[in-house]
Amino acid sequence: MQAKTMVDVEPMVYKGRIRMPYNWTAGETASRFFSELRERAQIWGTKCPACGMVFVPPKKTCGRCLKPAMEWVQVAPTGTLVTYTVVHYKEPAIHPIEAPFAYGIVRLDGADTGLVHLLGEVGPSEFVSGMRVEAVFEEERQGSLLDIKYFRPLRME
Ligand SMILES: [Zn+2]
Repeated sequence: MQAKTMVDVEPMVYKGRIRMPYNWTAGETASRFFSELRERAQIWGTKCPACGMVFVPPKKTCGRCLKPAMEWVQVAPTGTLVTYTVVHYKEPAIHPIEAPFAYGIVRLDGADTGLVHLLGEVGPSEFVSGMRVEAVFEEERQGSLLDIKYFRPLRME
């Protein structure tokens, strides 16, 4: 016989969040991408030998024509800011830096896709879609996308 529970009481249900540490493997393609960032402060992508499209971050398989045999190519740390948004609300649990800050999509020179990353060194109002930007690398790199500290307006020197 089943025990009676919740008799004459409304069951209350709430949403919660569980933060749980875990390990995961980045896989062959992302591991090489992160290793190049950490060891040489270089940004590498993959190029489709069939259609020529260059992906940054790299893809193991071409997203356009589905060819699996991608070639590694280094791209420039400079590029064009395709678009951006400014984050005003503070969410320290998930934001890499304190708000307000700007996220942008940067098409690096030599790449055909956009890389989402932080914009920095100047205030968010200094950025304009279409402007030239360059990556600023961390001195102490860990092998993550945040080894690129942010993209800043390209300095003409
Ligand atoms: Zn392709």
